[in-house]
Amino acid sequence: MSEAIKVDDENENEMLLKDVFEATKMGYVQAVKALLRGVPKPRLAALLARRDSQGHTLAHWAAQAGKVPILQLLNDMGAPMFEKSDDDVGMTPLHWACWQGHTRAARLLLEMGEDIDSLDNAQCTPLIIASQHGNAACAALMIRMGANPSAKDANLDSALHWAAYKGDMTIVGLLDYLGVSVQEDDKYGQTPLHLAALRGNMEVVEYLVLDRNVRTSVTDNEGATPLQLAERKGQAKVARFLKRHSIKFWQRPFSEICSVGFVLQVLGFDQSRSQEDMKWPFYVLVTFTIWNHVVFFLFLNADEMLYDSMFTMGLFLLFAIVKWTAFILTWRSDPGIIKDSDGALERRYKEALDDIEALGDGSSQLNLCHTCHIVRPLRSKHCRVTRRCVRDFDHYCPFVQNTVGQGNYRYFFMYLITLQIGMDIWIYLAALKLYRGGWHWVVGLSLIAHFPFWSMSFGMCMYHVQLVLANLTTNEYSNRYRYDYLKDAAGGFFNPYNKGFLYNVLDRFCADRADEFEFEQPPPQYLNFADIELGGPTMRSNSRVVVSGAALDRRRSASAEEPAEKDADADTEQRRPLLSAN
Ligand SMILES: [Zn+2]
Repeated sequence: MSEAIKVDDENENEMLLKDVFEATKMGYVQAVKALLRGVPKPRLAALLARRDSQGHTLAHWAAQAGKVPILQLLNDMGAPMFEKSDDDVGMTPLHWACWQGHTRAARLLLEMGEDIDSLDNAQCTPLIIASQHGNAACAALMIRMGANPSAKDANLDSALHWAAYKGDMTIVGLLDYLGVSVQEDDKYGQTPLHLAALRGNMEVVEYLVLDRNVRTSVTDNEGATPLQLAERKGQAKVARFLKRHSIKFWQRPFSEICSVGFVLQVLGFDQSRSQEDMKWPFYVLVTFTIWNHVVFFLFLNADEMLYDSMFTMGLFLLFAIVKWTAFILTWRSDPGIIKDSDGALERRYKEALDDIEALGDGSSQLNLCHTCHIVRPLRSKHCRVTRRCVRDFDHYCPFVQNTVGQGNYRYFFMYLITLQIGMDIWIYLAALKLYRGGWHWVVGLSLIAHFPFWSMSFGMCMYHVQLVLANLTTNEYSNRYRYDYLKDAAGGFFNPYNKGFLYNVLDRFCADRADEFEFEQPPPQYLNFADIELGGPTMRSNSRVVVSGAALDRRRSASAEEPAEKDADADTEQRRPLLSAN
């Protein structure tokens, strides 16, 4: 008889345990409470100390779900909160919170007394785990709460090595700013530059080489430079970049030294520092334009057959003058580079790193530039060619060899329009000459050569007319489904800057708000009706700091990625087993 009761009790216990684990995994606080209510004390303690079939505790699952109330409840009931999983990986609940990017859960565990530098079986600290999974807010939290930023795992890889390997520029910039060495090597003698290079993480490679002056000649234990690793791994873009920045000109082949591009580079015409910065479009455009003018003066303007078109010719010359003026202004003027002369923006950046609430719990991020280490205004973006943040960033234009932003967008637009009209007039005159005087080799071939330029220019004109009328930048338009400040309550695209054609045009051309930074959300008067109908908040978010689209995109792609596994290949073999949770 008593035997049977005992068996029943055991079954009941197992059922209850299963339910509690399920409710915890799903994050159902009330369900966990209800299940555990009324369980007698001795039985409760034994129950809470149990593990699931994979060796994880309840605290692991609560941390994974990021459920602060469940963690609190478990702690109050005396459940073990800091134990390692009984599996190959051996992570603590804090590791799991950092893995999932739950800053609040992570902070609570630390407040409960968890060791901030607790190690899993691969000697990874929670900071390293946060870095492996691109959770910048968690990484910042760990460092702020006193984690050792230079802690290394079993392969002597630091959090910075991992961020470089994963291509997470946010964490690389953050850790560098917080004083982690960008030069240190790991067990394989590989520096963060090696790891970024072999994975083809261009942004990180550029940052390390251009902004941090990391030596490109450094070799790993097998004597390989980052360039060699990139070549071996087929990372062509990174390899080209590293070659350009690591091989001195006297080491280059003779043919290269004799090339026009190289001569121009040596003469200082080539300001390019980055891979994206191509020179040829500029030269092609200038040559083409000058050639048109030569043909115009030699064959069109001087042609008696076209004397009745003198007015049109005058018009062409007028447009040519405006076009060249606009071109030079676009090329040479400041696109709106954000200068932090009094250090106020960097102070705000520093404050923001201390404000974990602002860093958010995974879903929101700051509009911080981790390369310039500043808080930047809305609509601005870090330009990878000029290596600085630019206000109202539009795009980098290789044809004018400058970033197009708030400072020079009006010149750029004027250039586009005058280029297009000038080309139209030229084509009209050339066609008229050919029609009246028959085939002429120079004019005919020049006319044919116009078509690729004409179609491109026409497309660009139409595109930018549309953008100006909508008061959007090229960057915003191409990220319109990504940037948080361009979303309505339902998550669809919404343009908060649309004030009607006239004001839109004025905004795009006269937006010199050089001294007045805009950190806030877009102006409230341009609210989406969806917000009001849903009875939701009148502003989507009142947070002072808002999402950087590029950073968000990286985060999304990072979270979509599989859990960390460095590389199956020999270079960084057996870095770390896959996370075994789930
Ligand atoms: Zn920047």
